[in-house]
Amino acid sequence: MIDPFGRRIRYLRVSATDRCDFRCVYCMGEDMSFLPKADVLSLEELERLCRAFVRRGVRKLRITGGEPLVRRNIIHLFRGLGSLLDGGGLDELTLTTNGSRLAWLAADLVACGVRRVNVSVDTLDPVKFRAITRRGRLEVVLEGLAAAKAAGLGIKINTVALKGVNDDEFDRLVAWCGEEGFDLCLIETMPLGDVDGDRTAHYLPLSRVREQLSRRWTLLPSNHATGGPARYVEVAETGRRIGFITPMTHNFCESCNRVRLTCTGLLYLCLGREDCADLRTPLRAGESDIPLLAAIDAAIARKPKGHDFVIDREHRRPALGRTMSLTGG
Ligand code: SAM
Ligand code: SF4
Repeated sequence: MIDPFGRRIRYLRVSATDRCDFRCVYCMGEDMSFLPKADVLSLEELERLCRAFVRRGVRKLRITGGEPLVRRNIIHLFRGLGSLLDGGGLDELTLTTNGSRLAWLAADLVACGVRRVNVSVDTLDPVKFRAITRRGRLEVVLEGLAAAKAAGLGIKINTVALKGVNDDEFDRLVAWCGEEGFDLCLIETMPLGDVDGDRTAHYLPLSRVREQLSRRWTLLPSNHATGGPARYVEVAETGRRIGFITPMTHNFCESCNRVRLTCTGLLYLCLGREDCADLRTPLRAGESDIPLLAAIDAAIARKPKGHDFVIDREHRRPALGRTMSLTGG
């Protein structure tokens, strides 16, 4: 699949559910209304959709959410998709998780062919962790990380940089990741979805974080690239990488190789835009994949060139109404 700007689309991110056991302050409101179950694709439908994308050239699948591991029987989806690794067209099957169920599922994920996992940890302080996630327990996530490590999974920690919340912890997080053998990815808050409270108050440009880190650590330029929005450095003292995801301060759209599928079968062509294509209708039209493949081709043909995120300081409105938990982070 090649879009109108010559970008080859090889990466599909799939939100397997919009539900979550946490309510992170930057991601959700306290009282979330989730999608009616009837609107959500079955795991079999999600697998069929993913298989259609792999037929069209997608080589990497990331299952995300919401929290993918809270969806009942999610391992069935991983098992089905894992069968596409090793010669079935897929190079990598991975996931992004809050880690709350990893202690139970890490070994099963490995058995399905998952080799790496991204786990979100914004703080190593249990009290702050509770405040940010509104209901999560840090020790459960740390147990999940230990299980993932023991099962042999490669681990990258995702940390959203929040001014006045975790901006005193970045050195500690870099040191911890070094000790544990994790990579780290720092993320700027993105203006997605209405959350309670004022998001602009916690917006922290990563240029500032990088400058702060470079006082304590030797940050070596790294040419590691995933086609995604992260720019990487290597920390000389730990040998681990740090990625900086800066959608607000950099334009990374030229190399974008990805599209995003929601659990209701909407295909978002860009995280920063509202435009999407309905794949549920062609999926449910019948057993033939021909209408579905045609709908995928038509959607890719209208992938936009880029986005224009802004945190609207004047009106304090999100740039987009939908939350990250719908489209997947
Ligand atoms: N529940 C899983 C988790 O938290 O890792 C997967 C889904 S979550 C939406 C994916 C990533 O998006 C997480 O690392 C989360 O911190 C990040 N995220 C959510 N809302 C965000 C926002 N408004 N700005 C920046 N990152 C956000
Ligand atoms: Fe749930 Fe992940 Fe959103 Fe936190 S960031 S509320 S864990 S979906």
